Amino acid sequence: MLSVGIDIGGTKIAGGVVDDDGRIVEQARVTTPVDPTALADAVADMARDLASRHDVAAIGVAAAGFIDATRSIMIHAPNIDWRNVPLRAEFERRIGRAVTLENDANAAGWGEYRFGAGAGSSNMVMLTLGTGVGGAVITDGELLLGGNGTAGELGHLRYERGGHACGCGQRGCLEQYASGRALQREARAIAATDGIGQGLTDAQQPDGTIPGEAMAALILADDPGALEAVHRVATALGEACGQFQAVLDPDLFVIGGGVADLGEALLIPARVAYEQSLPGYSGRQVARFAIATLGNDAGLIGVADLARIRG
Ligand SMILES: [Zn+2]
Repeated sequence: MLSVGIDIGGTKIAGGVVDDDGRIVEQARVTTPVDPTALADAVADMARDLASRHDVAAIGVAAAGFIDATRSIMIHAPNIDWRNVPLRAEFERRIGRAVTLENDANAAGWGEYRFGAGAGSSNMVMLTLGTGVGGAVITDGELLLGGNGTAGELGHLRYERGGHACGCGQRGCLEQYASGRALQREARAIAATDGIGQGLTDAQQPDGTIPGEAMAALILADDPGALEAVHRVATALGEACGQFQAVLDPDLFVIGGGVADLGEALLIPARVAYEQSLPGYSGRQVARFAIATLGNDAGLIGVADLARIRG
């Protein structure tokens, strides 16, 4: 059985026709329009176009933001001017058939759970370390939505009281310490100090950023500044996972997003920080850590599968 999944990202709308093994049969991609009406039209055009060439049973759309418990209303989107918009109905009117709506981080977590790094787990936490930090929780094989539909906002765990300001209006959120942006901030801070920052300084672009490939190369070369930057981010990630363990008791943490491209260089120090921050007793069981395997396709694969399941 085939279904369409569409993932609305900050820069691109990624769509695909997905089979029931999570394989993408056909893929589509357009630049995300800034105007909300043009954006909804672009999503509908992509869905209709993909569905016109395949026998598609369901259509799912994933977007960043708070979605209500009935999965109908976009209460608040962080990057698009959607406030209490009946988004599912808007897509259904444009496409002319039923649509499943889901938060993008939840969709990515579900995709990894069903077809990616989550295989063999039924209690999984996914953290997507991109520009920000997305979260998803799978409990006993079900996606945790919460009473208002907004569970799993793990990036907004308060990691440091009175810490860096977050886009959500709070301060000290995990997102400010364990994201791609946080890695850049730490790397710049290290580059600016004498001692171990030379490699990072040499890799800086004119605007001060350090490209991901350059960071990866420095880590491969055991550059002390780059290793320290990753260590700081991995420590925040691992310590937060200790907190999530106390609340959710997953058997697996799946780490995705651009920062996860660092692989074991990220996971090794994260595991150490995680085990050191676990509440409780010696001899307790610990969760596994794995890097996500579906990459940027996790969201569209996940929401296509959710659409099929929810009918
Ligand atoms: Zn926040």
